[in-house]
Amino acid sequence: MNPTLRLGRVAGVPVGAHWSALLIVALIAVILGTAVLPVSAPGLAPQLYWVAAAVTSPVFFASLLAHELAHALVARRAGVSVKSITLWLLGGVTEFDGEVGSPRAELRISLAGPATSALVAGVALAVAAAARGVPVVWSALVWLATVNGVLAVFNMLPGAPLDGGRVLHAVLWWRCGDRERADRVAARAGQSLGMALIAAGVVQTLVWSPMGGLWTALVGWFLSGSARSEGLARSAQSGLEGLSVREVMTSGVDQAPAWLEVGAFAETVALRSAQSVFPVVDFSGAPVGTVSLAALCAVPAERRGEVRVSQIMRPLPAGRVLQAQDPAVGVLSGGGGEVAAVVCEGGRVVGMVTAADVARIMLQASLRATAGAQRHDA
Ligand SMILES: [Zn+2]
Repeated sequence: MNPTLRLGRVAGVPVGAHWSALLIVALIAVILGTAVLPVSAPGLAPQLYWVAAAVTSPVFFASLLAHELAHALVARRAGVSVKSITLWLLGGVTEFDGEVGSPRAELRISLAGPATSALVAGVALAVAAAARGVPVVWSALVWLATVNGVLAVFNMLPGAPLDGGRVLHAVLWWRCGDRERADRVAARAGQSLGMALIAAGVVQTLVWSPMGGLWTALVGWFLSGSARSEGLARSAQSGLEGLSVREVMTSGVDQAPAWLEVGAFAETVALRSAQSVFPVVDFSGAPVGTVSLAALCAVPAERRGEVRVSQIMRPLPAGRVLQAQDPAVGVLSGGGGEVAAVVCEGGRVVGMVTAADVARIMLQASLRATAGAQRHDA
């Protein structure tokens, strides 16, 4: 997820927020100020509710951050580097660089978040007990304790990508020593959990709370979707093990010379090719960018004799150039865009992997991995 707003670094970890997180902070302030606080501490001036709501909502946001930071700091201590923390509509996401090395480390990293939420709930309750004399503060703290308690419990539900799913994964991995099998079970559990939440959300909508039900269903839908794609990415990774980029790329691709005019390139190559995107090469045959049919079409007909391919190409980020002998897993981290990788050998372009290729490669790899797993399980 791409953060809309960079909030700086906490303990060296870049922290950002997606715009949907800001929406939630505002929404929670409104709910607290108009419903929760006036109901639980009635009879006070309306401004007082708003002030308390305006303070409590960001504190809640900070407690979400504390949950994610706990994951991040424990991960870093276990030798896993942390890429970033992003807060969004449904909480936070901590992204790691690389793999967790052992089930023990995974267990510790996964438990750190819910444990922190539980701790925040406990502290909020203790402070609330001390602030009994100030009803609005007491209500705000009890609300904070309740949400953090719910967060701790909800996150421990046993399905990936929830923390409980990671705990399940770590335990299975530890018990049977087979990481891939644990991947599959945790992903499947996440999908089932998501489906169950969607069903519960529908019932909730029909029976008592349309808004709450929609929310539950939304969380379920997100959960089952990300469990599915995580499972797919996992099995793709294991299916690509031992393969090189050469074995998954499309070779013999048509190339676009950077110095050629758009019109000449269209006539000699683009109109006869089955490709919709081309690697652009310089005089030495080295890749410098990519150009799509759409970009060629965007050049007005009367200018196609003068505009060169180099003027309309997309430059190629360093990570998108792979060597033919590199591990095939590299094509999965190409990011968005039409071209996942341009493949070189001896400084010259020998192949390409498009976004459509990546989708095919992932499915093939998943097929290969599960074919292996079937043999294994039998
Ligand atoms: Zn968590």
